[in-house]
This record gives sequence, structure tokens and C-alpha cells, in this order.
Amino acid sequence: MPPTVPTRADLESLPKYVPGRTVTGAIKLASNEAPGGPLPSVAEAIARATTEVNRYPDMGAWALVDRLANELEVPADMVAVGCGSVSLCQQLVQALCTQGEQALFAWRSFEAYPIVTQVAGADQVTVPLDATHTHDLDAMLAAITPKTRLVFVCNPNNPTGTAVRRAALERFLDQVPADVLVVLDEAYREYVTDPDVPDGLQFARERDNVAVLRTFSKAYGLAGLRVGYGVAPAHVTTALRKVYVPFSVNALAQAAAIASLDARDELLARCTEIAAERDRVRGELLATGYVVPESQANFVWLPLSERTEEFAEHALDSKVVVRPFAGDGVRVTIGTPEENEVFLEAARTFQRSS
Ligand SMILES: *Cc1c(COP(=O)(O)O)cnc(C)c1O
Repeated sequence: MPPTVPTRADLESLPKYVPGRTVTGAIKLASNEAPGGPLPSVAEAIARATTEVNRYPDMGAWALVDRLANELEVPADMVAVGCGSVSLCQQLVQALCTQGEQALFAWRSFEAYPIVTQVAGADQVTVPLDATHTHDLDAMLAAITPKTRLVFVCNPNNPTGTAVRRAALERFLDQVPADVLVVLDEAYREYVTDPDVPDGLQFARERDNVAVLRTFSKAYGLAGLRVGYGVAPAHVTTALRKVYVPFSVNALAQAAAIASLDARDELLARCTEIAAERDRVRGELLATGYVVPESQANFVWLPLSERTEEFAEHALDSKVVVRPFAGDGVRVTIGTPEENEVFLEAARTFQRSS
């Protein structure tokens, strides 16, 4: 046998990112996408940008960064953009952790955290969610070690939809050591309706060890274009730019993000409708006998443990694709009212047949 090119042995144990399935002819409620297509104004901005794709994009995405800084009321040097906020998650670990240092996060939470941590060569420390499927911030605090460099707090949490409230988060932030970065991953912020769920930007403005991640993929409906942003202390955004894959936020994404901010009110109105549907869907599921934690995101969580796969199969028989997390639960994205009705009917027949 001739020798083969070695690849990193530790990648053998890397968990796979499982994307929501797309099944032709079925309703996809598996990836927390917005059900509505792009607004005409956004589609036009994308079309205009295509005429210049022979040119590299603005490497720093400065027009978008300046615009975000204005809207978010933070200095531009506290804003960084990434090829989706999942890229910013990875950049944060790369920028903060050297080998043997730790990223801490709850489990179950966003499935990208273990992957980006391991790819960056850092160690992961996980803390189970509490009995209500919510971050156990006291336990997370207790899990911080001298090797901890960053803590992800996904708020609301993907995939459970649960959110930590203001008092609990403030108490946590007050106790986290000043040399540990708390990353508030707020990919679903625009769907939050409980005023007691704090806006992380408030903490990022006031504290030197807090970062906030947001994305254009969910509420703004640009999942296919890949652009997200972060607000963090200036020395952290400087480090993020150092580990940025050059030009990875493409020109169409930059143009679409700016056009989406122009159309913000219209897009946020869509989120209000989704949030109302979320509460309606949860109410129906509770009435049918399911356990469903209160969600502040655009999805609901069914902690079905060993019946998870069976439920997902049943939903697929009814032409609805949900996202099962084997042995744990099913995450169901809120779609249009018509799509949600098809899902609810599947959930009712599952309950009756069991
Ligand atoms: C979807 C999601 C993201 C990022 O999505 P991008 O498309 O990479 O911007 C980040 N965090 C959480 C928790 C998510 O669910």
C-alpha cells in the first residue's frame, strides 16, 4: 500500500452538521427558515449587485458595517460581519482559544458549537439544560475554569426555543470572570415577544466581555446568501477580522443585507405574524397532549425522547419534514398558517395512534 496523505486524526470524531432535509413535494419545517420569499426590493438589490460579480466584494463589508453600527447604536469598530453567524461562532473560537483552552456551552444547544470548537482545536465543556429545557446559568457558571475562554449562551436556545430572562442573565454576567467572553447568540432575537427576555446589545454596549451574534438568515429571510453579524469589544472584532476567510461575505449578500435593513419594518411585521402562529401552534399541541416548552423563537420543541424518530417518520408520511434530534426531541419550524395546519393534523393523528 502506498502511503496516503494524512488528514487530522481528530476529525474522525467530529460530529456531522445535519441540515434539515428537503423532500420534493413536502412542507419543510426543518431549518428554521422564513417561509416568505425575498421582498421585491431585496430581490432587485440582489439583481443589481449581480452586474458587478466580476469584482471582489468589499473585504470589510464597510457599507454594511457602518449601517449596522448606526442602527444598533454602537461604534463601527464594535461590529463584525461573517459568512453567516455560524462563521462568526467559528471565528470567535479561533480568535480566542489556543489548544487546550475551552469553549463552554449548554447541551442541547446549537449543533454547530461542538463542531466549530473542535475544528478550531479547542476543548468543549457542556452543561445540560435544566428540567425546563432552559440554560442552567448557575451550573454554567460553576463549570467555568481557568481554561475557559468563551461561553456561548444561545438565547432563545436552538433547538428548544426557551429563553433566559433579564434578571438571571444579569446575575450570570455579573459573576463571569472579566477575562471570559460571553457570546449571546441571538439568531432568533426578532421573534422574541416577552419583554423580560433582554436584548443582548444592551450588555454588549455596557460590558467589556460580552458579544452578541445576529443573522440575516432567519427573520430577514436570507439563509441562502450567508451573512450574519456580531457586536463585540473592539479588540475582539479586530481579532475576528484576523481569522476571517478573505471575501467570505459575498457581494450579493452585502447588498441584500443593506436592502433588508431598508425594508426592516416590513420584515419585522412578518416576524410578529410568525410569533403569533408559534403561540397558536404551541397551544394546539398542548391541547393535544404534547409537552412543549414555551418558545420565544420561530420553532417549537417536542421532547419526545425515544419516540422522536417515529414522530418524524409519521410527519413525513403526512408530507411534513421536521428536524429530529435522535433520542432527544423534534424541532418544528413555524411556517405559514396553512403549513402549520398540515403539521398539526399530523401531530394529532400521531397522538391518536399511540
Ligand atoms: C441559524 C443559527 C445561526 C446562524 O445561522 P447563519 O445562517 O450561519 O447566520 C446561529 N446560531 C443559531 C443558534 C442558529 O440557530
